Amino acid sequence: MALAAVGAWLRDHARALRWLQWAVVLIYAFLLIVPACLPLPDDTARMVNNLTVLAQFVFWGVWWPFVLLSMLLFGRLWCGVLCPEGALSEWAAKRGRGWPIPRWMRWGGWPFVAFALTTIYGQLVSVYQYPKAALLVLGGSTVAAVIVGFFYTRGKRARCRHLCPVNGVFALLSKLAPMHYRVDEDAWRAAAKPGRLIPIQAVDCAPLQPLRHMKGGSGCHMCGRCSGHRDAIALSWRSPDEEVVQVAATEADVWQTLLIVYGLLGVAIGAFHWTMSPWFVALKQGLAEWLVERDWMWLLDTNAPWWLLTHYPEHNDVFSWLDGTVLIGYVLATALVLGSGLLLCLALSVRLAGRWQWQRLHHLAQGLIPLVLASACFSGCRPPR
Ligand code: SF4
Repeated sequence: MALAAVGAWLRDHARALRWLQWAVVLIYAFLLIVPACLPLPDDTARMVNNLTVLAQFVFWGVWWPFVLLSMLLFGRLWCGVLCPEGALSEWAAKRGRGWPIPRWMRWGGWPFVAFALTTIYGQLVSVYQYPKAALLVLGGSTVAAVIVGFFYTRGKRARCRHLCPVNGVFALLSKLAPMHYRVDEDAWRAAAKPGRLIPIQAVDCAPLQPLRHMKGGSGCHMCGRCSGHRDAIALSWRSPDEEVVQVAATEADVWQTLLIVYGLLGVAIGAFHWTMSPWFVALKQGLAEWLVERDWMWLLDTNAPWWLLTHYPEHNDVFSWLDGTVLIGYVLATALVLGSGLLLCLALSVRLAGRWQWQRLHHLAQGLIPLVLASACFSGCRPPR
């Protein structure tokens, strides 16, 4: 009951939550834009005396790990209550064209593709080190959220549901949350009986969840707006394995499996450890010698712009075209080797346990979600080069 009251409180304080969202938008914009306009800090700069270093710490040392952790504890409360991109997208959608969500946007592969592309691009421009790169990657994502919001749906979060680069990660992690909005279908039906005197209000569910048949919490943004709807929906406790064991048995799909094994346990790990990899260095040196022997020097040039490849000569941090190419190849090769190895192990386990079924493979892959948390944390940081 106490938890249901929290859900009802969220529903009843939508206005206060909106102010909170705008406060987060302002802090986010400040920490993203101002450091990008300042000179880069030197090696002696610290959080206490340099805004750029403080912003880096807030984004990658506080925000990213704690948002991931919050998914495990409270589901996607961050998305529904605090996320600046979600808030801006919904705000734009209330004022925009209201077009229906097109088919291309509904494609199930976006969570995997958007995560992989953003992770690799973030490494190419060194998003974790340089404020201009952070402004480009995070700010670009925010601008995209506003544009998509402006054109598609009337007041909903189409971009959050379909195109957000971390939507897939958050959807996986929130499956382990010990709370969700439980739907009592009997109470739902009873509320629809003729003779009911109080009219039923429609729910403004921004991520467009199928409320009546909602089983898990992976698509729900925990905003509380549906709390108490038809006396059938309430924030409730559940076992942390409930969604993975029961709901995912039928809902797990191929894109979630690919995101787990090739995305979060492949691309993210490759993107984390390439800076420390002796294989990466050996491969790059071998290729550089091979290019020099053939007099193909243009690949060794470091004339790419900062928004394509890292380019900060004043900090001796410049990528050549070869660096960028080898980085992409290395991350993809890591993803291929690790992901295929994991997939093979899962497939063997399914086969050894009985009759082969693709759905059982996808279901078993969900057992790797706790590992995904560690890997996702790694994907938000990078050891020094
Ligand atoms: S189902 Fe929709 S309205 Fe209900 S809490 Fe989740 S996001 Fe909010």
